[in-house]
Amino acid sequence: MQIANNTAVSIHYTLTNDAGEELDSTAGGEPMVYLHGNDNIISGLEKALHGRDVGDKFNVRIDAADAYGEFSEDMIQVVSKEMFDGIDELEIGMQFHAAVNSGSGVITVTKVDGDDITIDGNHPMAGQALNFDVEIVAVRLATKDEKSHGHIHGSGCNH
Ligand code: ZN
Repeated sequence: MQIANNTAVSIHYTLTNDAGEELDSTAGGEPMVYLHGNDNIISGLEKALHGRDVGDKFNVRIDAADAYGEFSEDMIQVVSKEMFDGIDELEIGMQFHAAVNSGSGVITVTKVDGDDITIDGNHPMAGQALNFDVEIVAVRLATKDEKSHGHIHGSGCNH
């Protein structure tokens, strides 16, 4: 079965940056399963998978714009410590989910200077081209529920 919109696709992949460093991999574990055509994965990878078949193996390099976006200085802000109500000690590298802003929805503390906290809303992989080494393990039609929810129901989905 070919990959088309509303198919459930299982892939094994290894992700490296242009320096050849491995950033992520499913090797030795469970494949990643996603619902094709629903923005479950980065757009460049979804495009590269479209129309392919079970057993296909390929490499693809995806520009930052089609991966986690270009790095944006505008996503870096200095805010008051009061923004982080209930957190005793703020440290560099702490991550929070932000309800505001566009972007990844995750902010990272990059500098702590007294009450001035510098936060970065860029995705940790923003500004990077990503190289995927992919093998398509399985393709099946999504169920009605999966289609209406816009994601796959498997292990880790409890409803
Ligand atoms: Zn669901």
